[in-house]
Amino acid sequence: MTTKALVLGGGLAGTLAARVLSAHFDTVTVVERDRYPQGPQLRRGVPQAQHGHLLMAGGATIIDHLLPGTVDRLLELGAHRIGLPEDTVSLTAYGWVPRFPATGYMITCGRPLIDWVVREHVLRERRITVLEDTTVLGLCGGAGQVTGARVQTAGAPETRLEADLVVNATGRASGLRRWLAELGAPPIAEDIVDTGIAYATRIYRAPRRFPPVVLYADHRVALPGRNGALLPIEDGRWIVTLSGTRGGEPPTDEEGFLDFARNIRHPLISELIAAAEPITPIRGTRSTVNRRLRLDGAADGWPEGLVALGDAVAAFNPVYGHGMSTAARGALALDANLRRLGPGPGLAPAAQRAVVAAVDDAWVLATQQDICYPECRYDVVDPRIVNRGASGRNLMDLVGLAALREPVVSAATIRVNTLSAPLTSLEGADVVAALRRPADRPLLTGPPLTDEERAILAAHG
Ligand SMILES: Cc1cc2nc3c(=O)[nH]c(=O)nc-3n(C[C@H](O)[C@H](O)[C@H](O)COP(=O)(O)OP(=O)(O)OC[C@H]3O[C@@H](n4cnc5c(N)ncnc54)[C@H](O)[C@@H]3O)c2cc1C
Repeated sequence: MTTKALVLGGGLAGTLAARVLSAHFDTVTVVERDRYPQGPQLRRGVPQAQHGHLLMAGGATIIDHLLPGTVDRLLELGAHRIGLPEDTVSLTAYGWVPRFPATGYMITCGRPLIDWVVREHVLRERRITVLEDTTVLGLCGGAGQVTGARVQTAGAPETRLEADLVVNATGRASGLRRWLAELGAPPIAEDIVDTGIAYATRIYRAPRRFPPVVLYADHRVALPGRNGALLPIEDGRWIVTLSGTRGGEPPTDEEGFLDFARNIRHPLISELIAAAEPITPIRGTRSTVNRRLRLDGAADGWPEGLVALGDAVAAFNPVYGHGMSTAARGALALDANLRRLGPGPGLAPAAQRAVVAAVDDAWVLATQQDICYPECRYDVVDPRIVNRGASGRNLMDLVGLAALREPVVSAATIRVNTLSAPLTSLEGADVVAALRRPADRPLLTGPPLTDEERAILAAHG
């Protein structure tokens, strides 16, 4: 008998899932509402691709494991591998980050490039087919067993696609809760932590090479958080993303954008873009709320035949750069469970539980900090988040400050922030010992620029 898997949504999570499923099912059908562009271009279904995207080491490693050669291919096509913290000029809530030798990395490039390279690789697999221009309308089956999906290709009547396993990867605006309710499943609640953060992004022709500049707000002061990032991407361009929480949103008009850049915690980004040529309009988004399905008891009552992953399960304030890596972690969790259990009964609840566990660190990192911003609105039951004075937050602040002085702590925070090590690793003996040592290195009072970088700045200022 032919075994069939269906993937709803052909974004990053969906294409990675398709790759995983192709090793366990005879056919894998991806249902995608858009028509894919022929190259690394923007498309309607992934509007966030207009904004700066960091691919953290944790996600890059998984993608490279599932699709060997992907990182090399990205670098070949002009992506940058940024050693952390050595190759960045970075201001965290706690101060400027010294350029300690790199202990981790991230990839910077346009988001469409990542999606395209992954898609090209995945769709080479003959078991995988894509139905483009096709919208998922709902699920088939019942509350205890999902058996397929109702879909509609543009201009054609609605049809039903049957499958042994359905993977929902329809992103942040997924209809999953509604679709499950239509099958008679109990309602699924959502956790929400909403800082009201807005993004404004513009792409420039980079006049010179310059390391990424990442300037973060300080969540400990009772002010709206304003951030800025200038990231080198392929084809000699900089993508500049400014963002601000409720009450501190960046304007999307020319003058307001530059003024905002001048008035974040340091004007470095405004100095760099002053003489750079903009090559796109300024684009905004407010699609940034932290939201997570409350699926803690995923094993109890979760239907057979359905697994959800990517933003459809948990989407984060993008400032932390964790969404793509978490999508990759979800695909890896699915792979591990398929290998362990095979595609039969019991798989879906177990895989869903693993996906839920895989999003937890990113969720805690984002929401524990976001809840500190003024006017943050939330509806969340997790005591780790709602108890603002919780030891978890205090530990993060302690560690964040120590990371500016102690290479050991810096390395540990980089591992956690790139989702390369679990959050609990911050409680490791090496970190605790470093936290106990008296701080003998003064904090930096300005951006840690090399002589060459200062000269570039002087030439452009
Ligand atoms: C402004 C912004 C900046 C970000 N920056 C970063 C960053 O720096 N680093 C990072 O790691 N992450 C970042 N993210 C998060 C990242 O974009 C997402 O986590 C990631 O795209 C999730 O992948 P996904 O496949 O789950 O969803 P998506 O990439 O959104 O893909 C969903 C897919 O489903 C399709 N679809 C939706 N509904 C249907 C339907 N009914 N029928 C058929 N198809 C459907 C869509 O067309 C799309 O192809 C950012 C997000 C935003 C909003």
